[in-house]
Amino acid sequence: MNNSFCSGSVSLSVVVPCYDEEATLPLFYEEMLKQISSLIEIGALEEYEFIFADDGSKDSTTSIIRELAGRDDRVRYIILSRNFGKEAAIFAGLQKASGAYVVVMDADLQDPPSLVPRMLEAVFSGAFDCAGTRRVTRNGEPPIRSFFARNFYRFMAKLSDIEVVDGARDFRLMNRMYIDAVLSLQERNRFSKGIFPWVGFKTKWFEYENVNRVAGETKWSFWKLLLYSLNGITAFSSKPLAFASICGMIAFIISLAFIVFIVIRRIIWGDPVAGWASTICIILLVSGIQLFSIGIIGQYLAKTYTEVKQRPHFIVREQN
Ligand code: UDP
Ligand code: MG
Repeated sequence: MNNSFCSGSVSLSVVVPCYDEEATLPLFYEEMLKQISSLIEIGALEEYEFIFADDGSKDSTTSIIRELAGRDDRVRYIILSRNFGKEAAIFAGLQKASGAYVVVMDADLQDPPSLVPRMLEAVFSGAFDCAGTRRVTRNGEPPIRSFFARNFYRFMAKLSDIEVVDGARDFRLMNRMYIDAVLSLQERNRFSKGIFPWVGFKTKWFEYENVNRVAGETKWSFWKLLLYSLNGITAFSSKPLAFASICGMIAFIISLAFIVFIVIRRIIWGDPVAGWASTICIILLVSGIQLFSIGIIGQYLAKTYTEVKQRPHFIVREQN
């Protein structure tokens, strides 16, 4: 761990995953720096650092980060060799962060820097280990996306034993104990919305109205989000496997009942050949259940495969 901060001081690391954020990054830096300066002025903060994790940007984000680092020695960066996804970028930034407190923020100002002082206060007081944020509105988001997002949180809460809070953002301020706990989870299929509640501790929630991006566009397509949520389910719940077993069991019981029915019908009416249509229906139904169950098992197998390969979470091209 880098010990650039004097121990005992109130030091804050601002971890920012960036992927093609040339339009927003300079604005974010200015805004956040204003907040930090006022915190330093009132003596609430002594040291700070920015950690920009460049997740394989294809635009000029990388050179903007280098330029910021050139004029502000509190700016540190880690440039990944390609796009590894937001989760990997956050993980890279968290590993690099050396502050006693760390806040994870998006580069697009959707996570209001004005909330940071209250979040820092909550965690610094010692009453909480983490300050989390949740959006209470989703204005400006396509309605279909809001609908699926809301239901995903409900579904996830039912499926897993962890508490996934509706509208929870990755915008969090944590103390060292909490960060070290998050870093100790070495899994490759990282799903922050599950990892954060999984580690436990005390979290204070801050609510805010949705803010639109200052510039640029979201990197999440509907399909990317759907895959991300499926990943979240397999990462934090094994209930789909139980569901597959239950489907199998129900199909087995129905087939037993059917065998009894056919045997009795044969004895009474002696007509074993009739029922072609029902046979086809049953074959289709049962093979459907089988394929569905194999699919579920396959999802877990694929996740296990990526875990056992033990590949690094990301590859670094350059860092300061
Ligand atoms: N991001 C990233 N890697 C990716 C996608 C996104 O590091 O593959 C970053 C992005 O630069 C931003 C944050 O993650 O700082 C959130 O992304 P975005 O604003 O596109 O998501 P949304 O706010 O729409 O959920
Ligand atoms: Mg955003």
